[in-house]
Amino acid sequence: MGLFKNGGINMRDGNSRGGFRSFGPREMHKATCSECGNECEVPFKPTEGKPVFCKECYMKKKRF
Ligand SMILES: [Zn+2]
Repeated sequence: MGLFKNGGINMRDGNSRGGFRSFGPREMHKATCSECGNECEVPFKPTEGKPVFCKECYMKKKRF
């Protein structure tokens, strides 16, 4: 007993209270897909020199 702290659980509860957005703020960054050249938005900061894929190309890649 006493292994778990209530703090974490309470914080989670507070977050889900806001309704949608329970995942927290997710910043989207504009990028150009390295595969098809389409403009896309990624939930992470695109790194220079690293290929960025749009949702479609990303799904395609994941399939293989
Ligand atoms: Zn693409």
